[in-house]
Amino acid sequence: METMIITRSTAENEAPWRFVIEPSEVDEMMKELGLSSVMELLPTLVPAAKKMARTPISRFHVGAVGLGESGRIYLGVNLEFPGLPLHHSVHAEQFLITNAISHKERRIRCIAVSAAPCGHCRQFMQEIRNASEIEILITGSESGSEFRPLSSFLPEPFGPPDLLRDDVPLLLEPHDNHFEMIEMCDEIGGAARNVRLAAEKGAREAHAPYTGCPAGFAVVDREGRVAGGAYAESAAYNPGMGPTAAAMVAFVMAGGGDWEEIEEAALVEKEDALVSQEGTARLLLAAIAPKARLRVYHYRTSDADEL
Ligand SMILES: [Zn+2]
Repeated sequence: METMIITRSTAENEAPWRFVIEPSEVDEMMKELGLSSVMELLPTLVPAAKKMARTPISRFHVGAVGLGESGRIYLGVNLEFPGLPLHHSVHAEQFLITNAISHKERRIRCIAVSAAPCGHCRQFMQEIRNASEIEILITGSESGSEFRPLSSFLPEPFGPPDLLRDDVPLLLEPHDNHFEMIEMCDEIGGAARNVRLAAEKGAREAHAPYTGCPAGFAVVDREGRVAGGAYAESAAYNPGMGPTAAAMVAFVMAGGGDWEEIEEAALVEKEDALVSQEGTARLLLAAIAPKARLRVYHYRTSDADEL
């Protein structure tokens, strides 16, 4: 199974691994394996996903494979960053959800993952509407492998309903944050312009209902590969995904190589933000791509646009 997928991707001369499988390919894989349900297919993809993890600290690879409402399958792996505190690490489930967000997936139905979701991820997934219904299978579990709802992993959750009105969009729902950029884009060109636009897009799509400080971060490597990410907050604050981490996920998904190949970066955030990402962005780049240049751009919101 693993060989089949890797061979196919390589034959198409793409990145060694793609993190999204389209519904037509899903059908094809099921036929080849004689499976009648996508839920049976998900765990078979986990071992191949695990191989794409970047774990220079723990060497503990985690792979997660999830099915979206669209019929697409999304992959996620864990990422670790040497030189940074461990809380900058990205977990496979967070990677998977960031992947789904970037493809405008509106609902995740089920996830197969190689190790039990940690408390952090159980909490992060609460940002998805009806999170309790997401079905989860732990492939490495010795206690029998079956899908169980997230509510059985995290009973009595604290989440968005505790802090937000019902009409506030949640994590996989469309976001269109309104703001006006302060620094104009006219004077910059080339890669710097592309990376700024990607960061701005991230800020417009960010999920920041708890602080009102949407932010986006993007990087571009020496091959001109642009990868942008949107900030995603959690009701419990700590388990959120910063825009920097989301952009690292995008970089891996885009087939990016070593972090040191990142040449330019852009952060878009609110002027005088109550919660700023700039310090983290500088810390991240200093540790993993010290030669990269960071430009920080700010926006203003009018009172009418306040979240
Ligand atoms: Zn986790």
